[in-house]
Amino acid sequence: MLFVNMSLQKGRDESLNTLGKLRDGLPDPIKNDEGRITNEFKPFSDPQDIRRLKAAIEYIEKRILHLGEPAAKDSIASTCNAYFLRLPRRRSLEQLVTDPGEKIWIHYDPIGTDAGAARGKDITLGRKALGGNVQVLAATLIHELAHVVGARDDDGTAEDALLHCGLSKQHVANNIIGKSKADAAAKRQSTKLPAKPPGRPRIAPNAVPRVAPQH
Ligand SMILES: [Zn+2]
Repeated sequence: MLFVNMSLQKGRDESLNTLGKLRDGLPDPIKNDEGRITNEFKPFSDPQDIRRLKAAIEYIEKRILHLGEPAAKDSIASTCNAYFLRLPRRRSLEQLVTDPGEKIWIHYDPIGTDAGAARGKDITLGRKALGGNVQVLAATLIHELAHVVGARDDDGTAEDALLHCGLSKQHVANNIIGKSKADAAAKRQSTKLPAKPPGRPRIAPNAVPRVAPQH
């Protein structure tokens, strides 16, 4: 279940308070090999950021998972959940989003140049993700949620979650920075490949970070 680390919206849009609350005991920041802090885990306080995050979570719940509707075979929800169930910790996206036993916190990263980062069950979102549209933010969340269940960047399994969750445009559009149109076309073609069997995720041969380097 997703919880947002956020300060109380008193006198502002108080309906946002149903999304989360201030969390005690923040995770330590992520540091690079030189010991420099690259990502922080802070509470959200800007109501505009919280509204954007709320819209992205609702996009995942309604447009991707179709929560509350009867499960349809071969739907985006079923292919997306099936992809997540093949990741090392074997939890569906629906379980991550709805199961109270999966308590996942979403934090704000004011300093990171990354779109997002994850450590254990803590996700942090930077300005690059928060400054994008609802699909960019939903895509970043799904990438980071894939990390929560053990997907990686070096083999492309975190980013490839987007191909299975109805956000392949985000995967393609943001992976062509500095690439030729031919590469982009090849990439687009590769999104049509069928999924590999469990434990053998497709390896992105020329994986480039989607919005910015992500972890
Ligand atoms: Zn990543």
